[in-house]
Amino acid sequence: MSNTTKSVAKLAVFGNPIAHSKSPVIHQAFAKQLGLAVEYTKILVPLDGFTKSVNDFFAAGGVGANVTLPFKQQAYELCQQLTQRAEVAAAVNTLWYDNGQLHGDNTDGIGLVTDMQVNLGWSLAGKRALILGAGGAVRGILQPLVTAGITDISVANRSWSRVKQLAVDMQQHDIAITPLTLNELVAPQDNSGYGLVINAISAGLSGDMPSLPTKLSTDDCCCYDLVYRDGGTPFIRAVAASGCRQTADGMGMLVEQAAASFERWLGKAPTTKQLIASLR
Ligand code: NAP
Repeated sequence: MSNTTKSVAKLAVFGNPIAHSKSPVIHQAFAKQLGLAVEYTKILVPLDGFTKSVNDFFAAGGVGANVTLPFKQQAYELCQQLTQRAEVAAAVNTLWYDNGQLHGDNTDGIGLVTDMQVNLGWSLAGKRALILGAGGAVRGILQPLVTAGITDISVANRSWSRVKQLAVDMQQHDIAITPLTLNELVAPQDNSGYGLVINAISAGLSGDMPSLPTKLSTDDCCCYDLVYRDGGTPFIRAVAASGCRQTADGMGMLVEQAAASFERWLGKAPTTKQLIASLR
């Protein structure tokens, strides 16, 4: 097919709210880099209208869609086919149609792991990890962390019921986590500390991070914030002030999860490093 006649791949992101989403900028940059014609739209979905929006989009020739808050769980329930990591997460951020069936994947975790291992050069194998928060994003990252060789995962959350349920659900997938509340957060008993600390508390967005005890981490600990914000995040500022030298916010994860979705839909893998730098 010549350049002048090539068809435009229709992509979209569904969410509510959606105005803040950087996904169109990221996917258009990938398309430009790879010489593909892509139209990527933000779709503001009424809270009771997710299924209709998805059906309308694919009926009108949509190729693939991302899903963001608060619809990731509904997307999971709507899919007829799921990847294993979407099954474990019970949440879907990437949709496409194949053989008349709606397929779902969750690329958040692989996005995080790729950013840490490839872009940041962090070695994960054998590390002991602490995750702060037990919401939807944490469900998406646990299996990829285990696959990357993290050996021991504690998850600390404000509300005990949510983190306890997470531990029970993960047990069904042979993923063992130690559930804690933020109040009972202490250094591991053998005193060797955590080698990786990940913040997944959305309060970081408003600057309202709970205070953390000192001496939680090893000397060469890596600290990653799923949250990203111009001017840095409260979590990154706090861990850097306590001496952590290896820190990163979630911008790299955002771009890498998008790259995994893009490759799934269009069969070509974009490069990401320059885009991450320019978005920062
Ligand atoms: P979520 O399902 O709404 O979960 C929010 C979590 O934050 C819960 O564990 C909640 O604890 C905790 N929390 C909220 N306010 C708190 C406070 N004042 N004090 C202590 N804990 C508090 O959200 P999510 O989907 O997991 O997302 C978490 C964050 O990750 C968001 O900021 C999101 O934007 C970010 N994220 C980034 C990427 C990326 O690509 N970089 C991808 C996915 C998510 P309770 O259970 O006690 O309420």
